[in-house]
Amino acid sequence: MATLFSKIINREIPAEIVFENEYVVAFRDIQPQAPVHILIVPRAEISGLAELPDSGDHQHLLNAAKVIAEQEGLGGGYRVVINQGADAGQTVFHLHAHLLGGAPLGGFGVPGLDH
Ligand code: 5GP
Repeated sequence: MATLFSKIINREIPAEIVFENEYVVAFRDIQPQAPVHILIVPRAEISGLAELPDSGDHQHLLNAAKVIAEQEGLGGGYRVVINQGADAGQTVFHLHAHLLGGAPLGGFGVPGLDH
């Protein structure tokens, strides 16, 4: 069965697509956590980072992040995050990277953990 993100990629579910090429499609997150919050999704249905094959065209995910960040004017900085599995809060089991930016992002990690 097609994943939610495959349905977006195939235009069966609407989304604001901001970039696409042979390998990835990127669209705005429906619940943005930053002024710019874009999901970058490989066309291939890989359920998560843990299932990423050892070889392939995977650098395209990061190349797309760089290009989209430029396109979105994120010269001040940005963050790219992949949530893998339950502890990271992954909710859609089709590999995707979050591109976040447009404001100072603060720290990340376990809330309340002292460093
Ligand atoms: P995860 O928690 O799996 O890393 O991230 C899944 C992301 O997908 C969440 O940030 C969530 O807001 C986003 N999302 C879930 N459903 C949809 C949808 O139908 N459209 C869009 N554009 N984003 C979605």
